[in-house]
Amino acid sequence: GLKGQVAIVTGSTSGIGLGLAEALAQHGVNVVINGLGDRDAIEATRAGLSARNGVEVLYHDADMTQPHRIADMVSSTRNAFGRLDILVNNAGVQHVAPVDEFPTEWWDRIIGINLSSAFHASKAAIPPMRAAGHGRIVNIASAHGLVASPFKSAYVAAKHGVIGLTKTIALEVAQQGITANAICPGYVKTPLVEGQIADQAKARGISEEAVIKDVILAAQPTKQFVTVEQLAGLLLYLASDAGASVNGAALPVDGGWTAA
Ligand code: NAD
Repeated sequence: GLKGQVAIVTGSTSGIGLGLAEALAQHGVNVVINGLGDRDAIEATRAGLSARNGVEVLYHDADMTQPHRIADMVSSTRNAFGRLDILVNNAGVQHVAPVDEFPTEWWDRIIGINLSSAFHASKAAIPPMRAAGHGRIVNIASAHGLVASPFKSAYVAAKHGVIGLTKTIALEVAQQGITANAICPGYVKTPLVEGQIADQAKARGISEEAVIKDVILAAQPTKQFVTVEQLAGLLLYLASDAGASVNGAALPVDGGWTAA
């Protein structure tokens, strides 16, 4: 089982990352959480995760735009626990605008946080995983790693890039007990998506209700949001011994969105 293993989940102070950290902790995994937010609130999250699940939970404040801080997050984890089994690259941000109006700062920020951070973290995590002969890298991509939507140029480019990075790493580590896979969620109702509903309404000039019905639920054949628990189920499988032959895959959990 996963009991006693050690995981890093980036961007786990909110939304999907927080739910994935909870699921890992429930299975006895010691977790390093990461992300932005109010320090007192983060400490309460950390302490709660640990107390509820009887595992050690540490917080590292690495900003995913800072390569040296990402490397420090990985080395601090190794120093604290002496091992690193599971790396979940989850941190992500979104900005919605037509490509010809897309702010260059937002392009750089999204590529940095949603794509380059997964490279920097994987680069630091692979040597200890290789030395241990065991490791799991799980990148939280998106249905937008497989298909596009208008007004999301940076996000779609970053998420397609994450899948390319995942496949390349998978080939490089395939004989070393390490796997690298991407989970491609459809819409999950998190703070990130709640923000998008407002932004899409502005970009398209329609109401927020219309965005939910005609943009978000229109993309997802089930007409239901994906849940964090459903994503956690796949993460736990990929992390398990049963997942050892799944490597370099981009796995949609999108209610059929990318089947269309
Ligand atoms: P969220 O906004 O709820 O959480 C994002 C997390 O990333 C937070 O913990 C935040 O603090 C952290 N973060 C943001 N910028 C950071 C930075 N510079 N350094 C460190 N941490 C940073 O978003 P979410 O919906 O939970 O998204 C999580 C991941 O799932 C993202 O990669 C997102 O693209 C992906 N995803 C989300 C959906 C969805 O519908 N919500 C769908 C597909 C993919």
